[in-house]
Amino acid sequence: MKIHEYQGKEILRKYGVATPRGIPCFSVDEAVAAAQELGGKAWVVKAQIHAGGRGKGGGVKLAKSPAEVEQHASQVLGMQLKTHQTGPEGQKVRRLLIEEGANIKKELYVGMVVDRGSQRVVLMASSEGGMDIEEVAARTPEKIHKVAIDPMTGLAGTEAEDIARKIGIPEKAVAQARDFLQGLYKAFDDTDASLAEINPLILTGEDKVLALDAKMNFDDNALFRHPDIVAMRDLDEEDPAEIEASKFDLSYIQLDGDIGCLVNGAGLAMATMDIIKLYGGSPANFLDVGGGASTEKVTEAFKIMLRNPKLKAILVNIFGGIMKCDVIAEGVVTAAREVHLKVPLVVRLEGTNVELGKKILAESSLPIISANNMADAAEKVVAAVRKTVNE
Ligand code: ADP
Ligand code: MG
Repeated sequence: MKIHEYQGKEILRKYGVATPRGIPCFSVDEAVAAAQELGGKAWVVKAQIHAGGRGKGGGVKLAKSPAEVEQHASQVLGMQLKTHQTGPEGQKVRRLLIEEGANIKKELYVGMVVDRGSQRVVLMASSEGGMDIEEVAARTPEKIHKVAIDPMTGLAGTEAEDIARKIGIPEKAVAQARDFLQGLYKAFDDTDASLAEINPLILTGEDKVLALDAKMNFDDNALFRHPDIVAMRDLDEEDPAEIEASKFDLSYIQLDGDIGCLVNGAGLAMATMDIIKLYGGSPANFLDVGGGASTEKVTEAFKIMLRNPKLKAILVNIFGGIMKCDVIAEGVVTAAREVHLKVPLVVRLEGTNVELGKKILAESSLPIISANNMADAAEKVVAAVRKTVNE
């Protein structure tokens, strides 16, 4: 789960991580009032969307007077902000963060992720902040310093100080940087985060370190023990199809292609997308209906896939282990009838009661294209798409 920058900063402040003062706003009037409340001479109007690259996209603007805050806020609020992370359609800005303008001497980078290789949370830091860290990693990997944090002891003071020096924090600010990094790790660990990224971390004119940006993602599997974080969820930022899918406990991710995939098991779903690609097609979604898919779940899965205007065909690929093929076949037939399926449907079934399953499909009188194995299924669904395109 993702949250907004201002929410990330609220969490981090509780752990002693220094951030500029700021106030989240939902209207232009609120933005002006926020600037007045914060006081000072400069403010930054920041679009709050669940994507980075806002600065380059025109979603972060410096204001030198309350009148300028008003001007920027009315421009940014409601805009369709396009960044390299939003996709070409952009994301509508519904919330702003009005923040005191910081006196930036140097922009640095700090990030934490769960690293499967070392099975630890890894702290990454660089003197090259404010820009795309991916580019720094590609061009000058020696400028990224890493520490794999021992889960038993947490981030040691000496480790934090060492990394602070490596990214060029001056000696007088090292102790503060250490507390900052230790606070960041504590926040990461306590909240079951999967990612925390401070880009930029800044060094101010007064040699103080501050988190100027904050991005936090959380492990969905641990959200049950963090109701306060769940309360921060912003459904406006999520794909409506994915929200609908999560209600029915379906793992659904919308993709760019035109072949809908309904599969049981995440591994088989990945393999299905791969084989569609191999045969020259393009998957419209990832969808794992899980081990115990009921007719209701299968019907909902069909409905969710069919909302996608790009969809040209569906491939159902089921391995009946715990789940029996006849149950799935019944589900597919019921769902196809209920949604008045108009696109070609290819079904590949294997496993328990497969013959019975195939018989149900054949006797349904629905125009279902039956496939014998995965390659056959992929070939048939790609051919079906080509046929609809050519018609
Ligand atoms: P994004 O990463 O989405 O572009 P950031 O929060 O990193 O958004 O802001 C982009 C840039 O805007 C920063 O690198 C910094 O130069 C500037 N900036 C952001 N917040 C402030 C602030 N409070 N004071 C001064 N400059 C800021
Ligand atoms: Mg940033």
